[in-house]
Amino acid sequence: MSGFQATELTNIIEIDRNKCKGCDSCKAFCPTGAINGKYGAIHSIDQEHCIFCGQCLINCPFGSISDTVDTVDVVIEKLRNKTITVVAVTAPSVRVAIGEEFGLEPGTLTTEKLYGALKQAGFKVLDANFAADHTILEEGSELVAKIRHYLLQEPAQHQLGPLPQFTSCCPGWVLFAELNCPQILPHLSSAKSPIQMAGALAKTYGARQIWQVQPEMMYVVSIAPCTAKKFEASRPEFVSAARYWRQQGHSAVYPDVDTVLTTRDLARLLKKLNIDFNRVEPFADADNPLAQYSGAGTIFGNTGGVMEAALRTAYYVISGEELPVLEYTPVRGLEGLKEAAVAIRDAGTGQTIRLKVAVVHGTKDHVRPVVEQVIAGRSPYHFIEVMNCPGGCINGGGQPINPMGTSW
Ligand code: SF4
Repeated sequence: MSGFQATELTNIIEIDRNKCKGCDSCKAFCPTGAINGKYGAIHSIDQEHCIFCGQCLINCPFGSISDTVDTVDVVIEKLRNKTITVVAVTAPSVRVAIGEEFGLEPGTLTTEKLYGALKQAGFKVLDANFAADHTILEEGSELVAKIRHYLLQEPAQHQLGPLPQFTSCCPGWVLFAELNCPQILPHLSSAKSPIQMAGALAKTYGARQIWQVQPEMMYVVSIAPCTAKKFEASRPEFVSAARYWRQQGHSAVYPDVDTVLTTRDLARLLKKLNIDFNRVEPFADADNPLAQYSGAGTIFGNTGGVMEAALRTAYYVISGEELPVLEYTPVRGLEGLKEAAVAIRDAGTGQTIRLKVAVVHGTKDHVRPVVEQVIAGRSPYHFIEVMNCPGGCINGGGQPINPMGTSW
């Protein structure tokens, strides 16, 4: 593991030429227009424009599209190697979807069964919700600093990006922005995603305080509802733990997250290990501080969750009070966009500001107009949550495939 060289993935989703019927369904769901081919002809993906979200894959009625990055056997090999500590970072949308792969009703919450299955397979657990709480603190603090500077006219303590602030935890959205509208990148929160924070935490705090192992002898597996997370983990900038340890005199280089399994991949891994999810002993992992989290971390997987969690923090820090219930209003003509306004009274000066926030999901139909408003300097919002997938991560490209198609 010490010879690690980051290689950014360039191809994750592929259309099988022998199975494609040219029905155009994939085109209808692709958020970036990355699919080529006339109706009736074999389709192909323009990898230069693909953001790896897998929406085409989960919506292809013929099962002609697949995720080509399959590390299930690699993870099994690591689990069998008793010199390696294998840590699973579980995202919130996995626990409500994995049961479907084992015959449970879609949406069944299986947190303790999931922990039990991971434990039986030999994983240590780091719940991504724990890291989501950290993301909220980072993203919320960044928003507070911008509110204080731009709206309450206080001097800035350090360099700040402009308002509105966009969330940055969806790798499909981040790549979309990089490829299609790089001028808005300064608006994205500088906080990395919960899963990437979790990887860095596992190989620093977790390695030293919880599992007492050398970080180079750890293998961090992100378990996510998302095919784009495979790309995110391969980005060369995500090596914070190795950077930290180099400052302590270590020489090894490794990624924060070694590999990503989607919900479907995890189901295959458990089946290969003959672990019957329905018979697994539930496990709470109550003694592991990295499996503890607040309600804010839990709502991350739903559209609106990141926004609400960060806003709660910002509201509390500025006003000293809890955020009242947010009343979202759908924006007419753009049903993937909801907005809300909240008055915040600065406990220090007594000044009141009106913060306008928006939640948008589904890049294909709803994100572009919101981005165009920001580029044109006409955005009415101060904080905007973006999730690429329609409905958010619950409907991510790595989730179980619903034979009836998506209802979004
Ligand atoms: Fe991945 Fe969620 Fe973004 Fe979809 S919305 S690309 S599942 S992070």
